[in-house]
Amino acid sequence: MKTIIEPFRIKMVEPIKLTTRDEREQLIENAHFNPFLLAAEDVIIDLLTDSGTSAMSAEAWAAMMRGDESYAGARSWYRFRDTVKDIFGFEQVIPTHQGRAAEHILFGVMVQPGFIVPNNTHFDTTRANVEYKGGVALDLPCAEAGDIDSDYPFKGNMDIAALEKVVAEHGPEKIPLIMVTITNNSGGGQPVSMANIREICRVAKAAGIPFYIDACRFAENSQFIKRREPGFENTATIDIAREIFSYADGCTMSAKKDAFANIGGFLCTNDAELAHRERNILILTEGFPTYGGLAGRDLDAIAVGLCEILDENYLNYRLDSTRYVVDRLLKAGIPVVAPAGGHAVYLDAARFLPHIDPLQYPGQALAVELYIEGGIRGVEIGTVMFGLDPHTGEEKPARLELLRLAIPRRVYTQSHMDYVLEAIGQVWERRNDVRGMRIVEAPKFLRHFTAKFERI
Ligand SMILES: *Cc1c(COP(=O)(O)O)cnc(C)c1O
Repeated sequence: MKTIIEPFRIKMVEPIKLTTRDEREQLIENAHFNPFLLAAEDVIIDLLTDSGTSAMSAEAWAAMMRGDESYAGARSWYRFRDTVKDIFGFEQVIPTHQGRAAEHILFGVMVQPGFIVPNNTHFDTTRANVEYKGGVALDLPCAEAGDIDSDYPFKGNMDIAALEKVVAEHGPEKIPLIMVTITNNSGGGQPVSMANIREICRVAKAAGIPFYIDACRFAENSQFIKRREPGFENTATIDIAREIFSYADGCTMSAKKDAFANIGGFLCTNDAELAHRERNILILTEGFPTYGGLAGRDLDAIAVGLCEILDENYLNYRLDSTRYVVDRLLKAGIPVVAPAGGHAVYLDAARFLPHIDPLQYPGQALAVELYIEGGIRGVEIGTVMFGLDPHTGEEKPARLELLRLAIPRRVYTQSHMDYVLEAIGQVWERRNDVRGMRIVEAPKFLRHFTAKFERI
């Protein structure tokens, strides 16, 4: 059979409020042209993020009812810890309320002013947490990553030659850790190959620098390796995941992504002394080390979600349904990052709206138009998100101008995606009339969340 079906059926529904185009014109203006400032109720298809927006399974809900809310040493904690250890293989597991809390603790103990953290591409919260400690968040994407048309299968890879150069120049004195983000979220949701992970491990080990993985979409990345990297066709996805983590000294994870949970995260390491210092901060900011800012029921939901996410039928559906949208956009000649990533579709706003200068935020303008057209909410990943240097206050164009349409896991059906495709097609028809934006008000860190805009 060629038809992709959702490998689940629906037993609980959430109604969607439908709005008119005229209503949306007013609603987005009231939200200062920032989709983050819209009420969710006023959104028809919410593709703002795949974070914490997944539909949980009947099993995960049942597990929540088993949640043990004991303060210390709850049964939920052991179930969570054992599952994380089984898949990720690290000795020390530290639960946190989100991925960024894990980042904050990790960089809190490892980064000092002037230190450099190389990554294939830092995610926004990762970058902000490095910079908050006075560190330099250095992106080293492979050359193919910048070429939106390249069909290179692992455009999330790190540039190994560039990494070797930075390591030779600064050494372990200035580089507290090397990170790789799988899949590369801010770089178009593209996967990283096992070969690349092995190379990063080799460079890190030779220099005596710890190697960490930002593991948010580890299952999607593992399935891409199975599908695209020679030699892994017959390896079980869970074994691919285990091999990935076997090369690393630790990881940060947001359970709001590849664990189907609505909240949660964790930090792992094999370094007991480091974990001791991390737990001291954890107690201060998150909670006791056996719950770390989570309810027992959340720990149980994550334990179930981590197992479900590695179901290969689910992962094949996930990758195929994202590719379904990308393939149709390509067929219509609409500029989109290809090949398809795992969790999101990235419209290339620079080529969609070539008449809008990067400093007039084409990605933001496209986000606004797509909301007006179909009530669809996406997020700019471009100069609004990455263009401002918080230390110098200098603004310059980002490497890419993208509009990310993230697809919540197990939430929308193919007909929802057909509706999204129709709306994108309609904006494409009238693209020449779309105007740029200017920022009226914005903070220095993570400005995209709260910035207010007006149309030029
Ligand atoms: C979401 C995300 C994070 C941060 O996780 P939160 O749970 O949102 O704090 C870090 N890195 C990547 C790649 C992410 O996608």
